[in-house]
Amino acid sequence: MSEQPQQIELPPIKFFADGSDDDTKKANLDAVLPSPGFPDTALLIADSLSKRADLIVLDYSAQVVNVRLQIDGLWHELPQKDRTSGDYMLASMKKLANLNYMERRNRQEGEFAAEFLNKKTTFDIVSQGVTTGERVVIHVNRKKPSTETLSDLGMRQKMIDQLKVHLGKPKGLILVSTLPGDGLTTFYRGVLNGFDRFMRDYYSIEEVSRVEEEVVNINPVTFDESNGQTAQSVVPDLLLREPDVLVFPDIPSGAMLDYYCDIALNDEKLVLTRIPAKSSVEAILRVMALKPTVSKFAEALQCVTYQRTIRKVCDACRQPFVPPPQLLQQLGLPPGRVQTLYNHTQPPPPEMSVDEKGNPVEVFVCPKCSGVGFRERTGIFELLNVTDAFRKAMLQSSDLQVLHNLAVSEGHLTLREEGVVHVAKGTTTVQELQRVLQK
Ligand SMILES: [Zn+2]
Repeated sequence: MSEQPQQIELPPIKFFADGSDDDTKKANLDAVLPSPGFPDTALLIADSLSKRADLIVLDYSAQVVNVRLQIDGLWHELPQKDRTSGDYMLASMKKLANLNYMERRNRQEGEFAAEFLNKKTTFDIVSQGVTTGERVVIHVNRKKPSTETLSDLGMRQKMIDQLKVHLGKPKGLILVSTLPGDGLTTFYRGVLNGFDRFMRDYYSIEEVSRVEEEVVNINPVTFDESNGQTAQSVVPDLLLREPDVLVFPDIPSGAMLDYYCDIALNDEKLVLTRIPAKSSVEAILRVMALKPTVSKFAEALQCVTYQRTIRKVCDACRQPFVPPPQLLQQLGLPPGRVQTLYNHTQPPPPEMSVDEKGNPVEVFVCPKCSGVGFRERTGIFELLNVTDAFRKAMLQSSDLQVLHNLAVSEGHLTLREEGVVHVAKGTTTVQELQRVLQK
């Protein structure tokens, strides 16, 4: 077992250990600071903070430890660690979290905190033995900037104005969609914030065990599935209060969608609901796959608003280049419109950022993105306005391409076209747009 090299300069990070009382906390921290695993712990935790990671995953196998960070929704591999230094590091982190560092098999959960660059952050750590060794998942409870409005999320003002026309309608159905796990809740909240909530009465009908985070001026009304209730158990009473808008966070079945449509068409309310999908047109097909009465759905549907998140290239280290004419043509940009596009700065390969002993060596790292090349995300959006011609087509076809082509012929801008706007503005790169569109 080798000693930790002494020459490594540790980042200015201060740890706070957990414990049942103050004495235990102090004893845990005092044990960790001189321990052989502390330098690697300090480096990893500081790295995760400066790169704005949301998750750290350590996979222990017989010989090595694989370390990954999740940053802006994407996994980044860090240099592998040998098992010995990985074990020391994990022992330090478990001690910080007041866990038993000898325990490598049973699941353990704990937390610790660290202060770095004047910001204190808590870390939730879960360790669990697996057949190959041990897996450790650390959630970085980063304080994120609050994205509350559609404009915060990156929607263009013109599209916001168009969406608000739909949100201001007296009746009909509005569908909100993203990829699964691609910020549906945040986008949905952004759309709800797009309502003129001070002029009308809004209710969100939610199952009691899946209550949504509250949005100002939208009144939650709950039903209890364990008591055999559905949304239909509470909506009739609610309708007596003459609400303007009813919001349903999901569509449990085609029959329930029929019910939402009845509220939209017969009770003349505006209804908003959501479903995960790959595009706005696909969202319609996902709903149709639940076998609702398509004629009702088509009649009620006013628009689909769709978001996909895309990483923003770091503006401190992005690399400008003059786009060749073929590339502009592929992107559908007229010649002369855009003089410069950008690539992200590639991080050095892991073997270049460590010496032959596996110790970190000095390489230039952009201070703004910590060498990731991208920083934060924005959204690319679709707004599908459902026209009478589109409604007619919904009754005749459930083919994605047919409905997509019709929408495009009516002037619908696709995710790709919306994404190219971000590329042309230098907000993101061609490769990042391709990556995001392939999802
Ligand atoms: Zn940068």
